Amino acid sequence: MNASEREQRRWRLVSTSAAETEAFGARLAERMEPGDVVVVRGDLGAGKTTLVRGACRALGVEEPVTSPTFTIGQRYRGAGVTVSHLDLYRLPGLELEDPALLDDYLTADAIAFVEWPAAAAGQLGGRVYEVRMRHGGGDRRVIELDSAPSHA
Ligand code: ADP
Ligand code: MG
Repeated sequence: MNASEREQRRWRLVSTSAAETEAFGARLAERMEPGDVVVVRGDLGAGKTTLVRGACRALGVEEPVTSPTFTIGQRYRGAGVTVSHLDLYRLPGLELEDPALLDDYLTADAIAFVEWPAAAAGQLGGRVYEVRMRHGGGDRRVIELDSAPSHA
């Protein structure tokens, strides 16, 4: 295994319940620092928001965590940290939009979680972690995490 292959090593977990996925999100959150971005990929119902909810709880967010419907994102106040939660599902491409659209969310003081990140490709700076989720039948969800962040 050469250095770049080692860099791209993936961790894989099969979650069998929403609670287990939340717990995974919580463990992930504990490794994050302000300014970090976690992109969460996967189909509808794969459990992206569930994972982000677990992360938010671990970071001290007490308000409800649901996918933003009428805005592209939310900023939550955690315990000593801000958590941004973006869902760009409805955003066709940021080049069509205000280039500053993400600025309110991707701030140096916030840990940001981004569902459906494709529209923000190339606009996510700092340490960017990559989580992929897919259905595994029933309540099973396959979760993969790249062990190293990409540096944009
Ligand atoms: P997404 O944000 O990817 O569209 P959600 O997290 O909003 O997905 O929804 C996932 C749904 O699947 C929730 O209703 C959740 O309770 C359910 N679910 C069942 N098993 C799991 C699991 N292992 N992990 C996450 N969610 C699960
Ligand atoms: Mg969602």
